[in-house]
Parts: sequence; structure tokens; C-alpha cells
Amino acid sequence: MRKCVRCNNEMKEELEIKVDMQSYGISVTRKGIFGKKIVKPQIAVCPKCGEISFFIENVNLLKE
Ligand SMILES: [Zn+2]
Repeated sequence: MRKCVRCNNEMKEELEIKVDMQSYGISVTRKGIFGKKIVKPQIAVCPKCGEISFFIENVNLLKE
């Protein structure tokens, strides 16, 4: 369980962010216009203060 960086409250993680009408969401890619897609970031929201944190569950994918 993630803790809020602001108030140390438990954050909710079963949520996602939509940025367009097709519900593709957002993704983390290598730099560049057609950067290789690495992973879809997840978010956690603090129900107390509303802080949103982006995080990647499998950070091993970044070690290349
Ligand atoms: Zn908070």
C-alpha cells in the first residue's frame, strides 16, 4: 500500500487516468517521437488530501 507523500494517508490504487476519448490512457516510453513503449503507469490517489501519485509497478522494466 502506498502512502501519501503529503499527509502519509493510505492511497487508493484501483483507479486509472484517461486522457482521451478512446481510453488509451497514457504510457511511459523511451524518449523520441516513436519511443518504445515501456509500461503503463498506474496512479494512486489520497482520499484525504487528493494528492495523485504516478508510479510503475515493475521498475525492473526500466533497467536496460
Ligand atoms: Zn494525502
